[in-house]
Amino acid sequence: MSEITIALDSGHGGSDSGAVYKSRKEKDDTLRLTRAVGQILENSGINVYYVREDDEYETPFKKATDANNAGADYFVSIHRNSSERPNQYNGVETLVYNDSGIKAVLARNINEELEKAGFKNLGVTERPNLVVLKRTKMPAVLIEAGFINDDEDNRIFDENFNKIAQAIADGILKTLYAQDINFNEIPDYVQNMPEPEAFNGAYQGNAQDTTLPPSPATRPGMNVPYRMQNPMEDNDPEKLYRVQVGSFRDKSNAERMLNSLLMEGFPAFMIYEDGLYKVQVGAFRYLSNAIKMERRLRCFRYSTFIVYN
Ligand SMILES: [Zn+2]
Repeated sequence: MSEITIALDSGHGGSDSGAVYKSRKEKDDTLRLTRAVGQILENSGINVYYVREDDEYETPFKKATDANNAGADYFVSIHRNSSERPNQYNGVETLVYNDSGIKAVLARNINEELEKAGFKNLGVTERPNLVVLKRTKMPAVLIEAGFINDDEDNRIFDENFNKIAQAIADGILKTLYAQDINFNEIPDYVQNMPEPEAFNGAYQGNAQDTTLPPSPATRPGMNVPYRMQNPMEDNDPEKLYRVQVGSFRDKSNAERMLNSLLMEGFPAFMIYEDGLYKVQVGAFRYLSNAIKMERRLRCFRYSTFIVYN
């Protein structure tokens, strides 16, 4: 996964403002959003190639060629849509050369995430004549992140800006992880965990039972790899990080989530604490490993946070 390079293109630039509405220029919105998406991807260990780094003009043909020469694995171009009359249409739309293959999956994943961030989902549209979609050698999509001449879409864009950047990054990451579901990047001791079924008995129906299942980091004789060790981390040997995926008053809801996690291969278990059935994944000695697991879980649409004892 770490070898993946995403080419991120912010639409227009320099003398080409793209669509303009009131004092708002498409080229500025796209640059800002591209930078935010790129930052999230880089933080997730993805190489990002910025096709346009600043307010400069490049022809679409040069953009496609640059991405090809950079050896990018995917090409994601970010734009804002525009309609003939202001406030005529609203929503997000993602364009592809043709509606097939992984690029179509990527486009739909991005749209779905953007819908959760507040936009209407206008779906995927084939646009075989766009140079950046036609001349790129890798799967390519062009996101129209809402209409720049729609006041409601601009309100969403500004108010939910971070969510929107996260949504695009999540759509990309989800697609990548689905391509590489064998958990190569999960630390050894997670791969070496007992089969998930071993955790099915973690909760035996005793509401007072707060005992964790044997955690891979604490089992005696288990060699815990240290390759993820970060000198900036607090490595208190007593401290174990777990990723909490849900907490429920109703036990059957917790069990349903636990079963989904186990079927998806996550080392999940359930505890009863403070009157709630909590579904967690882990445990990890290093925060970086818990964060890594958290990212996997988020690609499967779980909302998560990290807890420690
Ligand atoms: Zn545009």
